[in-house]
Amino acid sequence: MQKEFSIAVIGLGLIGGSILKKLKNTKNKLIGVSARQETIDKALKEQIISEGSTNIGIIKDADIIFICTPINITLDMLKEVILIAKPECIITDVAGVKGFIMDFVNKNNAPVNFIGGHPMAGTENKGLDASDSNMFEKAKWVLTPSKWAQNKDVDILKQIINELGAEVVVTDAYEHDKAVALISHFPLFLSQSLFDFVNNYPDKETGRLAMKLAASGFRDMTRLAATNPTLATDMLFQNRENVVLAYKEYIEHSKLLENELVEQEENFIKHVNELVDSRKKMYSPEGKNISY
Ligand code: NAP
Repeated sequence: MQKEFSIAVIGLGLIGGSILKKLKNTKNKLIGVSARQETIDKALKEQIISEGSTNIGIIKDADIIFICTPINITLDMLKEVILIAKPECIITDVAGVKGFIMDFVNKNNAPVNFIGGHPMAGTENKGLDASDSNMFEKAKWVLTPSKWAQNKDVDILKQIINELGAEVVVTDAYEHDKAVALISHFPLFLSQSLFDFVNNYPDKETGRLAMKLAASGFRDMTRLAATNPTLATDMLFQNRENVVLAYKEYIEHSKLLENELVEQEENFIKHVNELVDSRKKMYSPEGKNISY
């Protein structure tokens, strides 16, 4: 990257911390804002920021601001940021649901230089200690530019996201919300309900034995059930309609497989072979999505 920017990250948790850890060795000036002074002190000690505060006023001269707070306070944070940031500052976020945020920005009476963002990477953990400089390596990073956003700013943000190791996908916020319901939010709900189903199985004896015998298959299927509860509930509430729709469509679709399993063995075998083939082609040995 040619130019040095002053980049502020608000919310030094899993995602904010990972952004800063990756940008640490660039020429950009890095500023951090977090809820607790303890987090700021840790970030200063790790030298992933050169300035930090629990007071948001510190972002006033930033060229680029990443809002990385929990989803349910992103909008309030954005409203505060708009009042403080310089007019030409590029404001972005990382929230996993985009429609309600883009609605606010696009319906605002005055211009907001905002480009919505969502990195398609993460873990079930939270906080700065769980952050990782390689978090976004070869990940997709969705951008949903607002009606106010200028192409030159989208290009600048793309450059930084590329530096973080990710590949930008520009899309509509509502299309994003429908798509992530399918591959992120509904799987989270499925994982939660599967874990809850077995953990509270009505036949207590069988349920206890099942939990005792559970190994890697059940662990992998229920990894998402252990997602940071604030993040999990924020995502499901904010994208509830799309999650419920995906759930209903999924039930219908799985009836097809159930029917094949019970009554059409040959079709079931063919179907399973096809899906195994597609699933194997979808991810690289390192676990990266290589399907498109
Ligand atoms: P996280 O680890 O819990 O981090 C959230 C951070 O926000 C915390 O460090 C917290 O500060 C800070 N914070 C809370 N309230 C604040 C306030 N009023 N002012 C300033 N900072 C505040 O959560 P996360 O997983 O990084 O999620 C953050 C965002 O990333 C969410 O919008 C989420 O949708 C998005 N995202 C998450 C993932 C994922 O897998 N986790 C993936 C993609 C996108 P303290 O630590 O100082 O208390």
